[in-house]
Amino acid sequence: MSDDIRTKIGLRPVINVSGTMTSLGASIVVPEAIQAMEAILPQFVEINDLQRMASKVIARLTGAEAGFVTASCSAGISLAVAGAITGNNLLAIEKLPDMAPDKNEVLVQMGHVVSYGAPVDQAIRIAGGKVVLIGQATSTHRFHMENAITDKTAAAVYVVSHHVVDYGLLHLNEFVEIAHARGVPVIVDAASEYDLKLFLAQGADIALYSGHKFLGGPTSGIVAGKKELVRSAFLQNMGIGRGMKVGKESVYGVMAALEAWQKRDHHGIRERETGYLKLWKETLDGRPGVTALIEPDPTNNPLDRLRVVVSPSEAHITAWDLAAALSRGDHPVIVRDHEVEHRHFYLDPCNLHPGQEKIVAARLHEELEKARASNEIIATPFEDRSRHRFDGMLRWPD
Ligand SMILES: *Cc1c(COP(=O)(O)O)cnc(C)c1O
Repeated sequence: MSDDIRTKIGLRPVINVSGTMTSLGASIVVPEAIQAMEAILPQFVEINDLQRMASKVIARLTGAEAGFVTASCSAGISLAVAGAITGNNLLAIEKLPDMAPDKNEVLVQMGHVVSYGAPVDQAIRIAGGKVVLIGQATSTHRFHMENAITDKTAAAVYVVSHHVVDYGLLHLNEFVEIAHARGVPVIVDAASEYDLKLFLAQGADIALYSGHKFLGGPTSGIVAGKKELVRSAFLQNMGIGRGMKVGKESVYGVMAALEAWQKRDHHGIRERETGYLKLWKETLDGRPGVTALIEPDPTNNPLDRLRVVVSPSEAHITAWDLAAALSRGDHPVIVRDHEVEHRHFYLDPCNLHPGQEKIVAARLHEELEKARASNEIIATPFEDRSRHRFDGMLRWPD
């Protein structure tokens, strides 16, 4: 571990079993992307030509007519929405987000308005979009969407995520059918999805991906879709897109990550991940108050995770206190804890360096043994966690 850059500069050597999290540095960038970035960084390039080349690679991998690279998937939402609002009107592009043309309404199902670290609706609003929520938190019906479409509707945004409500809403096929019947383009936020073709194949006009999630590229976003809409989104680089710009290294790095994705040994990686899950399950099986279940990804990515259910009366610790304990010490392990109030967290195997799975198993053993040996049940009230959630952030940089 002595050559670990993190310990050298005084950062904690966290082990990520949480997923592709921006707060942890997203993902392990693939060697192909690192080499590509290194090769292009010292050179001057004509950036729009480089983006033209990126368009070809994106088109080939996604089935889109065109594409480009931006700063993040979140930036992609803003740029795609802005493009749908302004078209190729260069003056309108400069005036955003004020004085958006009249046609600026953007439909979103209420159950899709989630936070991926920032609110989905904000990415629409900073592009001059007026968010029109359709349906209720757990129900959208055809009539909600049909009646919400007016002459001012510029686009409809559909979010694919484990965060969105997963029942009672319109599925993409029907969402597209209703939007297209009235000439409204559909923008799909597919930031975390493995399938680069599915959403465009289902009729989306634009699909957006993160370059730094499963693809293992540099921090970036991919905009893919119908040529005219993609071009209108690209033109926003002369407007609100400026603050979301990417350098040559990100454009070229993502191109390399996309090529590498095509050649990646997906089967081999799945097997390796399954091995990690089995090891952790064996480590946990039979422990009092702990149930370990291998579960598929909620949005059908070819990925399983281990769900660890913790019963405090027997394990002598709550799921959230266990998650917190794992995240401390010399070998901090960061688990996937967004549902921890349901008394479970997940272990995500997709961002590990080989060998780290054993440290994760050892840490699970260590913290669970410690809790069992405790005379009292370690149970911080859940409200305390919620109450203090942003304390550290609000003290930053101290
Ligand atoms: C991660 C994520 C985003 C944000 O992606 P960035 O590329 O980090 O901006 C947006 N939407 C969903 C559904 C996500 O999972």
